Amino acid sequence: GKGKWTEFDQRDLLLTYNALKVLEARYLLKDPDTLRYVETPQMLFRRVARFLARGERKDVEEKFYELMSSLKFVPNTPALMNADTRLGILSACFVIPVRDSMVTPQGDGIFDSLRAMAVIHQQGGGTGFDFSELRPKGDVVASTAGVASGPVSFMRIFDVSTDVVKQGGKRRGANMGILHVWHPDVEDFIRAKTGELKDAQLQNFNISVAVYDEFMRKVDSGEPFPLVNPRKTRIKDWDYYVVRARNYMWEEWVQEEILRELEEREAVPLDESRIVTVDEALAIAETEGAVTGYVNARELMTKIVKSAWDSGDPGLIFVDEVNRRHPVWYLGKIQATNPCAEEPLLPWESCNLGSINLEKFVVDGKIDWDGIAEAVKYAVRFLDNVVDANRYPLKQIEEATKRTRKVGLGVMGLARALVRLGVQYDSIDGLYISYQLAKFIYYNAMLASIELAKEKGSFPAYDPTLYKDVWENARDFQEILKVAGLGGQPSEQVRKMAAKAESLDFSVLKELRLKYGLRNATVVSVAPTGTISIIAGTSSAIEPLFALAFVRNVAVGKFIEIDPLFLEYLKKYEMDDPEVIKKIAESGTVSDQPFVPKTIRRLFRTAHEVDPIYHLLHQACWQQWNDSGVSKTINLRSDEPEDVVWNVYVTAWRLGIKGITVYRDRSKSKQVIYFGIKE
Ligand code: ADP
Repeated sequence: GKGKWTEFDQRDLLLTYNALKVLEARYLLKDPDTLRYVETPQMLFRRVARFLARGERKDVEEKFYELMSSLKFVPNTPALMNADTRLGILSACFVIPVRDSMVTPQGDGIFDSLRAMAVIHQQGGGTGFDFSELRPKGDVVASTAGVASGPVSFMRIFDVSTDVVKQGGKRRGANMGILHVWHPDVEDFIRAKTGELKDAQLQNFNISVAVYDEFMRKVDSGEPFPLVNPRKTRIKDWDYYVVRARNYMWEEWVQEEILRELEEREAVPLDESRIVTVDEALAIAETEGAVTGYVNARELMTKIVKSAWDSGDPGLIFVDEVNRRHPVWYLGKIQATNPCAEEPLLPWESCNLGSINLEKFVVDGKIDWDGIAEAVKYAVRFLDNVVDANRYPLKQIEEATKRTRKVGLGVMGLARALVRLGVQYDSIDGLYISYQLAKFIYYNAMLASIELAKEKGSFPAYDPTLYKDVWENARDFQEILKVAGLGGQPSEQVRKMAAKAESLDFSVLKELRLKYGLRNATVVSVAPTGTISIIAGTSSAIEPLFALAFVRNVAVGKFIEIDPLFLEYLKKYEMDDPEVIKKIAESGTVSDQPFVPKTIRRLFRTAHEVDPIYHLLHQACWQQWNDSGVSKTINLRSDEPEDVVWNVYVTAWRLGIKGITVYRDRSKSKQVIYFGIKE
C-alpha cells in the first residue's frame, strides 16, 4: 500500500549519498536479463531480514528489519548480497588448510585448497591459509625426483587465481597468507611484498608471520632461533618452540586429568610420544635432520619491521595468544586467520560477521546502554541464524562451522560516537569508553548466546567444563595503560557515563552458561567494516576519523567532500564558511589550523594525528573483551621512522593483541584513501 512506501522512503533518507552509490553498484539486486534494479535499499533490508528470520516468529523479522533499516546493525557483505539468492554464502571469513601434497583424498592438498578458495571467492567470502606445512624451496620431491618451489611460489598461484575469479563480478577476493616463523623460507616470505615487489606480487594477499612467545623473548635477547623443514620431522604439530604436547599453551592450568579426559573422549587424539619439552623437540628435529639452520631472532624481526615499514606487509599473528584465548581450544590448534585477522579459525571453519553502529547509540550526548543491549541480543540471534541459512560450498566447511557455530558481532562508528560524546579519541577517556563498550557488548552477546542455547541447544562441540571463558584473563584497564607506559585515570564524568558497563558481574554469566549452555563458540569480533560502514554512513570499526574534508576529482570538476558531522560542528561555531572549508580540505585536518576552536581540534583528530600508541591501545581495549580477534590498521604518517613499527609490533605482543598490521601513508602506489587533496 501507499503507506508502506512512504515508510520506505523515510528510511531511505537515512542513507548518505555514498551509501546509495555503494548499494547501487554492488548490493541491490538486478534482473539478470534487463539489468534493471529489482529492489530498493529498503527492499534489500527486507529481503535479508525475512531470509534470516525464516522459521522464527514474525516479530523477529520485524526486529531484524528495524535494526538494519535504522542502520543500527549491518551484517557482513555476503549476507547482504546473497541472502535469498542463487549464491549461498552469507559468511565473510574462511580458513582453509593446505597440506604438502598436490591433491589428497581428504581434499586438503594444494590444488584442493585452491579450488575451495575459488568457490568461496566467487560468492564473496575471504580466505585465510597457513602455508607452513609446505616443504621449503629446493627441498626434494620424491615422486618426480625434482625440487620443490616453496610456499611463496605456490601463493602466487592462489594470487593469480584470485585475480581471475572476481566475486560474482562485484569485488575481487581477499586472502590472508600466513607462514610460521620457523619455516626455512621465512625470509623469502617477509620480502614477498616489499621493495620492487610491493606493487607487483601477491596483491590479493595480506601476509603475516605467525610468531610465538618464545620467539618474541628471543627477539629481546637476540638469541638464535631454529628453522625447521616441516617435511622432515615426525612431530606434526609444527610448533617447535613450545611443543609441550598439544597443550603447550595451557601449561599452567591443564592438569593431567584433563589430558586423560580429552583422550578418553578422543576430542584431541593424544600421542604420548609428542609430549616433549621445547629442548627435547629441538633435539629430535636435529637428529631427524629437520633443522635447516638458525637465525638470530632479533635480526629476523628487524627484517620483518623493515618490510612492514616499506609496504605494510607482513603483519604479525601472535599464535600463543590466539590459542591461549581460544574458547574451544580442545578442538585443536589455530594456525591461521581470515584476511583481516579478526577471525582466528580452525581448519575449514567459517564465521559470519555483523556490526553494531555505535554512533546510533549516542543519544543527547549519552550512551544508550539499554539500546545497545537490545541490539546486541537480536544481532546475535541474526548471526546465529546465518549459520543455518548458509549454503556451504563444501562439506568440510559445513561440518567444521556447524560444530562450533562461531559468530562475530563487532562494531563500527566508534570514532564518531566519541565525537558525539565529546570525548577525544586519543585520550585516557577515549580508551576507557572503548574498554567499557567492549566489555558491555561482549557480556550481552554471551548472554544472548546463552539464551539461544536455552531455546535451541548448545553448539555441538560445547563442553561446559572445557570451554574457556576468555574474560577470566582479560587485562585490567590500568594494566593496559601501564604496559604502554601511560599513567592517568579516566575522568569522573566518563566513569559516570560508563557505570552501567563497569558494574557488570561476569560470574553470573558463567553460572548461566553452566546451567543453560552456549549457542556459539565465539560471539564477538571486530571486523574492519570496510563497506558496511559506508552503507551505515559512519566511521569504520574502531578506527579514528580519516579525513574531515577532501577534494574529490570527478569528470565534471572538483568537489569538496566534507564529513557531515564535522560540518555540524563548524556550523555550531559559525565557521561553515566556504573559504574556511576549502582551507581545511587542503590538509584534511584541523589540528594545524589555529583559527579553529580548541574543542573542534580536540574532537576531530584524524588517523595520522593520533599517536600510534593510542591506535594500539584502542585495539588492546577491544581485544580484552573478545573471544576472537580485532582488525585494526595502525596508520602511520609517511615520515615515521622504522623504530615506530618496531615499537608497535613489540608492544602489541605485550598488550596481548592477537594480530597486528601497520600501514604507513603513501608507502604503496595504490592506496584506497588519501588525506587532503586527491589529484
Ligand atoms: P564488509 O564491510 O564488506 O562487510 P569488512 O571490511 O568488515 O567487510 O571485512 C570483513 C571480512 O570480509 C574480511 O576480514 C574478509 O574476511 C572479508 N572480505 C572483505 N573484503 C573482501 C573482499 N574484497 N573479498 C573477499 N573477502 C573480503
